[in-house]
Amino acid sequence: MTEVLLEAQSLKKHFPVTAGFILARTVSSIKAVDGVSFIIRQGETLSLVGESGCGKTTTAKMILLLEDPTMGSILFRGKDLQRLTPAEMKEYRASVQAVFQDPWSSLNPRLRVGSIIGEPLVVNRALPSKAIQEQVRELLLQVGLRPDHDDLYPHEFSGGQRQRIAIARALSLKPALIVLDEPVSALDVSIRAQIMNLLKDLQHQYGLGYLLIAHNLATVRYMSHRVAVMYLGKIVETAQTKQLFSHPQHPYTRALISAALRSRPDTQDEEIVLPGEVPSPLDPPPGCSFHPRCSNALPLCSKTTPVPREQERGHWVACHLAETLTVATRATISAEERP
Ligand code: SF4
Repeated sequence: MTEVLLEAQSLKKHFPVTAGFILARTVSSIKAVDGVSFIIRQGETLSLVGESGCGKTTTAKMILLLEDPTMGSILFRGKDLQRLTPAEMKEYRASVQAVFQDPWSSLNPRLRVGSIIGEPLVVNRALPSKAIQEQVRELLLQVGLRPDHDDLYPHEFSGGQRQRIAIARALSLKPALIVLDEPVSALDVSIRAQIMNLLKDLQHQYGLGYLLIAHNLATVRYMSHRVAVMYLGKIVETAQTKQLFSHPQHPYTRALISAALRSRPDTQDEEIVLPGEVPSPLDPPPGCSFHPRCSNALPLCSKTTPVPREQERGHWVACHLAETLTVATRATISAEERP
């Protein structure tokens, strides 16, 4: 069984909302992430998808230690981050790296590429400068650049090459897990596939785990082994990628996928248009927070929050109607398979 690298257990991030000027008091909270659980295994890509504001970036920030969870735990290789010794926490920081959307802003324009990639090695590993230079050149080769590129500045590269530099920097400390926050969305469509293939090759080579944050479902489908769909701070559906895209169960996932497929002439499914806007996480609807927009909603849905239940192996759905929707999907599959 492949090792579980990271486990999020009932993770919450609530941002306090204060009122008053001099004696500010907390009057409410924004529930950016509201009880999220998932695991990421070695060599696996888990994607978090959902509309902006659904909590996927805040979840990634908690894993990168850029935000403290309000409640819940993050376990890395079975150890709760809150219980790590300073030495173990240093190792966690080295083991979990990130590649962000915009390589322009994530690379220091005043440093040469050799210094950008070598900086984590200088800070974390007591190595002679010659050894660091050799490792930097090796990393440049691994990401498809030339070793002598270490002498250039970021502005001397194209967008795709800059993202390769960001990936080389993320690899420098031999991480186990990389958070990929929209890694190709700022790139030209023509070079997105190159970067995605590079990331897949590196994953295959080193057994890297990826947490992918992306809004483009084509990217998610190509890159991921499993997908977790988020709505208003909660995961509403998790499944293997193929299963999720071919037979989505949750009404929100169905709408999300149908909207993404509308540009494909080969699909006959009609787009599901959701009424209204995503409600504010400051005042989420009671019960199932999707109920004001759900065409399947029952009276129960506005009162009771659905808990995720496993419908098929590894396919979890948080919806009161999950069993009914699964039965309907199974009937559709068997009708499709009938000669
Ligand atoms: Fe729709 Fe009810 Fe399911 Fe929520 S629980 S998605 S409102 S059917």
